[in-house]
Amino acid sequence: MFEVKNIEDTNLAENPVIAQMSQYNHEQLLFCNDNETGLKAIIAVHNTVLGPALGGTRMWAYNNEMEALNDVLRLSRGMTYKNSISGLNLGGGKAVIIGDARSMKSEALFRRFGKFVNSLAGKYITAEDVGISPVDMTYVSMETDHVVGLPGKSGDPSPVTAHGVYVGMKACAKNVYGSDSLTGKKVAVQGVGHVGEYLVEALAKENAEIYISDIHEPSLKRVAQQYGAHVVGLDEIYDVDMDIYAPCALGATVNDETLSRLKCSIIAGAANNQLRKETVHGRMVMDKGIIYAPDFAINAGGVINCYSEVKGLSSVWAMGKAEEIYNTIENIVKRSSAENIPTYQIANKMAEERIAAIGNVKLPL
Ligand code: NAD
Repeated sequence: MFEVKNIEDTNLAENPVIAQMSQYNHEQLLFCNDNETGLKAIIAVHNTVLGPALGGTRMWAYNNEMEALNDVLRLSRGMTYKNSISGLNLGGGKAVIIGDARSMKSEALFRRFGKFVNSLAGKYITAEDVGISPVDMTYVSMETDHVVGLPGKSGDPSPVTAHGVYVGMKACAKNVYGSDSLTGKKVAVQGVGHVGEYLVEALAKENAEIYISDIHEPSLKRVAQQYGAHVVGLDEIYDVDMDIYAPCALGATVNDETLSRLKCSIIAGAANNQLRKETVHGRMVMDKGIIYAPDFAINAGGVINCYSEVKGLSSVWAMGKAEEIYNTIENIVKRSSAENIPTYQIANKMAEERIAAIGNVKLPL
């Protein structure tokens, strides 16, 4: 039977939503519902110490609301770390729209969602993510200015992301081989999509020996021909005699099974969530003597590109900022070996340290 409780009787620890927010210290959640358009969304603002919370909107047919809540809490926290370690004055946020991206989209739904984003008055800035197209974002932008990555603005972030991955890879090479030259190094690039192809282009210019795989045969053939790369099978890529593995397609490809096969000394790629289980595989990689460039630090070019749009900065500025990923990765790798702590943990610490330091600066005099 439904029970009406006095507020005094309510034990907040029993409230799964607030308990989940407090677990990772989220600042704010906004639950959005609109019966007319079918909009059901959650906007999560994790941390705004460094600046407004920036992170994309994902549209996904979650099995239930708790799954959507978990995802938005996890992703928004991840954005706080990514924005912090990249030296941006941005906090972390994310939004999820619950529903099938193939059948539920409408102009009205996205404009209604835009109104909710606007109600946060700039505390949250949104962008595209999985399941969302530039057209959808154009509708969102009709109701709020707090959107980035629109057509005709900062443009495709992939060249900036690829540049960051390329310089981050060089920083790892410096640590392992004593020189950051990639000439003659065997690099296996998994996925030659937007980012992967730009990365292959940079590697080819430096005369690396490139191996590529992709599920999309036409891209594979074209990229192989254009840059003189060797084509390998989807599963075969893990067995290539390589120096560097660059995952640029899927998450979770660094796992028990692949780690027993990978012969590389460096893992440096664009994909998100490369370690299947951060705590397990982050340590396992280190124990195997492989240098792992933490994904959220090395693939930050995309968010750097968004930041340039927020601040009205040029694409030249964005490329220059992505260049700093070299130093970031170099610092992470050095600290990891000095403190004997896996690189992903060092990256988390560095992100937290910056938030704590800048939080202190922002206190009233
Ligand atoms: P994309 O969709 O353009 O490219 C991915 C490529 O991987 C496609 O060509 C696809 O056919 C291929 N692929 C899919 N499954 C594969 C498999 N099993 N084996 C080999 N190839 C496979 O995506 P993108 O924009 O190039 O992004 C690549 C990765 O980097 C994604 O994980 C993305 O989340 C991440 N990332 C991208 C950016 C960016 O700026 N685009 C920024 C940060 C992170």
